[in-house]
Amino acid sequence: MSAPASGCTTDLVCLLCGRHVPYGNVQTCPACGPEGILDVRYDYDCVARTMTRESLEGRSRDHWRYAELLPVSPASAKPRLHIGWTPVYEVPRLAKELGAGRLFLKDDGRNPTSSFKDRASSVAVMKALEFGARTVACASTGNAASSLAGLSASVGIRSVIFLPERAPEPKVTQLLVFGAAVVKVRGTYEQAFDLCRSACGKFGWYNRNSGTNPFCVEGKKTAGLEIAEQFGSSVPDWVVVSVGDGCTIGGIGKGLDEMLHLGFIPRLPRLLGVQAECARPIVNAFESGSDLVPTSAETIADSIAVGTPRNWRRALAGIKKSGGSMIAVPDGEILDAIRITARLGGVFGEPAGVAGVAGLRRAIISGVIGSDESVLVVITGNGLKDIDSARRAAGEPISIAPEISSLEKALAQRGDAIP
Ligand SMILES: *Cc1c(COP(=O)(O)O)cnc(C)c1O
Repeated sequence: MSAPASGCTTDLVCLLCGRHVPYGNVQTCPACGPEGILDVRYDYDCVARTMTRESLEGRSRDHWRYAELLPVSPASAKPRLHIGWTPVYEVPRLAKELGAGRLFLKDDGRNPTSSFKDRASSVAVMKALEFGARTVACASTGNAASSLAGLSASVGIRSVIFLPERAPEPKVTQLLVFGAAVVKVRGTYEQAFDLCRSACGKFGWYNRNSGTNPFCVEGKKTAGLEIAEQFGSSVPDWVVVSVGDGCTIGGIGKGLDEMLHLGFIPRLPRLLGVQAECARPIVNAFESGSDLVPTSAETIADSIAVGTPRNWRRALAGIKKSGGSMIAVPDGEILDAIRITARLGGVFGEPAGVAGVAGLRRAIISGVIGSDESVLVVITGNGLKDIDSARRAAGEPISIAPEISSLEKALAQRGDAIP
């Protein structure tokens, strides 16, 4: 089937070999196999005809407002959950603490299942319905899975989740609550990923793995479209994003680039990609200029603990095009970032959700980002997703007898002012 299903899509292009692939139910490049990540292409004259500042004003305040730039039929009924158009807050006290010029947070923990991944899963369930699948599957330890389970529940299709043995409990609980079939695979993440792909092939399930699914990144790019629309001509100098597989930063870069092309913003913000110190294969590839070498991935930031990322080419291309950079941060600084982002910005993020704040601090200290520049950090996941790390960052409550003197003593010990 080669006829475009959405208004302005044209075809897909392999990011490895450049081959054009007809628009339809595809995953990776038929010539290159799983390494050949496909990118959806659009006719931007077609987009510009109907997607204007004026026309956008009257549209729904969610990510479906960018219908021309999504690979989803504009006519089909969308999930009812509210996705995207997440708030942007200016946070001057956090800016001062980090030494940033102006600082903004975009809180994507506000999405329905509390992470950025809802942007991708919502597009994936639409594609599943469009292609006639009644079941959608993915292999994930975390937010991609809980998000897919929630979005599947909202449109009434079944989800099957392949979990490697090590997965954070709150996220597993989300899966079970939404009624996903949760299968723990006794093996590595790679084995769970391969089993998911085989099952999808054999049973006709739709595969949502954003490493290989070309439509997920289109959902993720809506954060870039929103940043462009929310800031317009005062678009920040830098956009900071935590990086695991690379699909998120690659998508945000694509969205910003499209909005530059369409004249919504006057220039491209630079992208800063942030990985954890002990899970930094894409930072290594950025620094060495060579192909990616898989590494181990040990970090409290489970959502970016990816040793074998699949979208690293897309991530690096986006970062380089923007004149951006990459940086790695140790876990201790990620825990600090949980604290300061909450206390000085009012936003509670999970470790991967605030890793960008930790990366920003390092980037300012090392001179990569100037102290007069404006910065937006995307907070990619809500803090309640990982209570153990939050407790490590925040400490324990004080326990006292029910007497005013004990209260005074305890506050004094903490160094807190009383009046
Ligand atoms: C998935 C995820 C990321 C990183 O996205 P990639 O596409 O894997 O680079 C960052 N933060 C959170 C909270 C995530 O769930």
